[in-house]
This record gives sequence, structure tokens and C-alpha cells, in this order.
Amino acid sequence: MIIAIDGPSGAGKSTLGKMLAKNLGLLYLDTGAMYRAVGLAVAKSGTNFENRDEVIEITRRAKIELVGEPENLQVFLNGVNVSNEIRTPEVGQAASIVSTISEVRKILVEHQRMLGEMAENGAVLDGRDIGTVVFPNADVKFFLTAKPEARAGRRYEEERTRGHVSTYEETLAEINLRDARDVSREDSPLSIAADAIVVDTSELDLTEVHELMLEKLKGKSEKVKK
Ligand code: C5P
Repeated sequence: MIIAIDGPSGAGKSTLGKMLAKNLGLLYLDTGAMYRAVGLAVAKSGTNFENRDEVIEITRRAKIELVGEPENLQVFLNGVNVSNEIRTPEVGQAASIVSTISEVRKILVEHQRMLGEMAENGAVLDGRDIGTVVFPNADVKFFLTAKPEARAGRRYEEERTRGHVSTYEETLAEINLRDARDVSREDSPLSIAADAIVVDTSELDLTEVHELMLEKLKGKSEKVKK
């Protein structure tokens, strides 16, 4: 079984994706972490982000691994644990820049499909193009969204907990910039799949969204009580 969760930054995709994966015994794949790992690899190499050929070559060579249980997923880039390093706003921007390159997307999408198909019980994937491009035949597709202020507020709290020093205004500007790039890129822009279940999480807490998603999954997974 494949569950797709798409939506803009800060809508709660990864937290809910982890909760569902844990609850249903599915693999959790954070596809944004893969784009972030490529963004980090390019930044570390000192390559100009405008140099498409070099960015594509770095993506081809990058060995990206997602290891561990959903709630404690660790991201490795070429054997090095980069789980914390990829969470900065700078790497978020780098990820959104490299993600506009079609060849980069092709390499990562292939990797994501392979991991999803290989997962014994199925997988929950979160990203921007899961229901539209990566798994258009996913069993269930969710599109999580929320008002920009609610999303920025959550991201700001998250970053503060991680020890990053940005103001709420900077966080809001950062996610607005990234969202604008994600919806306007030519290849696989962030969009709502025709058959997606849209959930606005602005006024809901995590438990409420989780319950709502489980409700929608009734009859689709044996693990969800009838
Ligand atoms: O999900 P996260 O915010 O970590 O993703 C970082 C960036 O990676 C996004 O802003 C987007 O540009 C890109 N991304 C993408 N397609 C995905 C997942 C992430 O283009 N499936």
C-alpha cells in the first residue's frame, strides 16, 4: 500500500507521515530530505547552483540513504549522517533550487519509486509531487495545507527547538519564497492531484489531523479499525 502526502512547507506532512507510518507498520520516506541532501552536497562542493551539468553530476554520484524507524529517521549522504545539517533554512533554499532541474528530479524520483516498491508492507511518502508524479496510482493521496502564518509559526518553533536563530518574519519570508518556487517550476510543480483528499490543518492539532487521516484510510488498510 502506498500513501502519498503532498503539500507546501510547514503543513505538517512529515510529522503526520511519521505517525501514520508508525501506526500502520509502513516504511516512511521523506523525499524532501533527499532534495535537501542534494542541496547540501552541491553547497559543500562549492559548485555554482547555476551550473546545471555539475549539479546533475553531483546528484548522480550522491549516495543518499534514509535509515531507521519513522520517528527517528536518519539521513546519510555519502556515508555521513547529515540529519541535522540538512534542516537549516539555507539548505531548504538549496533544495528548492536543485529541485527545479528535471534531471535531478528524474534521478531522485527513480530512487523513491524503487524504495517505495521494495517496501514489504508499503510506504508513506511525503513531498510535493508524490500523488501527481512519483506514485500517481497511490492507494490514498493526501494534500495537507494551512495558512502561511500557521505554517511559518510551526516552522519557527521547530527551528527554535533545533537551536537555529531566525525571527518569525524571516521564517515566513523563507517559506513563502520556497513555496513560490515550488508552485511555479516547470517540472512537477506543487499541485493538488485530482483524486487527493485536501486537509487544511490551520485550525487542527496533530491528533485531530491524524484521526482524520485514519478515518479516510478505513477500508484501505487492514490495520485501520473498521
Ligand atoms: O519537504 P521539505 O521542505 O524538506 O523539502 C525541501 C524542498 O525540496 C522543497 O521546498 C522542494 O523544493 C523540494 N522537494 C521537491 N519534491 C519533493 C520533496 C521536496 O521538489 N517530492
